Amino acid sequence: MNYRHIFHAGNPADVMKHAVLALIIDHLRAKPAPFCVLDAHAGIGRYDLDSEPARKTLEFQDGIGRLFGQPAPHPALRPYLDAVNALNPDGRLRWYPGSPRLARALLRDQDRLLLNELHPDDWQILKAEFAGDRQVSTFKTDAYQALKAHLPPREKRGLVLIDPPFEQPDEFARMAEGLKAAHRRWSTGIYALWYPIKERAAVWRFQEAVENTGIRKILRVELTWHPEDTHLRLNGSGLLIVNPPWTLDDTLRDLLPALHAALPSTGGGCTVDWLVPEG
Ligand code: SAM
Repeated sequence: MNYRHIFHAGNPADVMKHAVLALIIDHLRAKPAPFCVLDAHAGIGRYDLDSEPARKTLEFQDGIGRLFGQPAPHPALRPYLDAVNALNPDGRLRWYPGSPRLARALLRDQDRLLLNELHPDDWQILKAEFAGDRQVSTFKTDAYQALKAHLPPREKRGLVLIDPPFEQPDEFARMAEGLKAAHRRWSTGIYALWYPIKERAAVWRFQEAVENTGIRKILRVELTWHPEDTHLRLNGSGLLIVNPPWTLDDTLRDLLPALHAALPSTGGGCTVDWLVPEG
């Protein structure tokens, strides 16, 4: 396990992922009934952009660095940017909320957050970050085991984030299988699956595998910032969202072009469509 998210925290892929997650959780807040968020690959929870690894890559500069302290390029970025701003009250961008801190910022008193992280060092940091928080539980197990252990949640509504580091060559296949097994346990939950866009053929194979699970109502959301003419770099990233909240597709069709325009790019673009419709 060599991957550490601190090198990438706040980059354009994180911005897209976290802006969409914030919208999903914001939507869950519309009803008073409690919800649960299960983050199967949680990372450390909160990232210090002044740290050596973050400063080594400076990836955040082309991501959150372009949005912070500026007028929001789209109103739908509000729940996400509010969470970033809350961590940096003096107006200087130092702390970046990973998915755990972002989700925590949006929980109400009745909601729960389950965080899972396998890397022993990252798990220690994550555990310390949320120590004493009675709404948050942390686990150190394999993500796909965590899905088996915690689904369905007792709240019967909520979000599952599957956000692996793609260190293993079979990660796409494991993700499709993991979704299938999780959906068998809990078919009404919202699932968000993050994936890198480097080699388009690998993404197609993944999406075909997800289609072949037979699961319906899957929204595909992609943002690319380079033309897809090389598989050597990250050209963009995507999210498959199972059971997305009503109207999320329309909101994202409006938001993504604004996000693409606000972030640096050498081309690319965005897609919001149904990989599998409800039908
Ligand atoms: N979700 C985080 C966020 O948005 O802030 C970022 C997660 S990062 C892309 C992927 C994380 O998964 C890493 O922290 C890595 O240590 C962890 N990881 C890798 N393999 C795992 C596994 N089999 N089960 C659980 N976590 C794993």
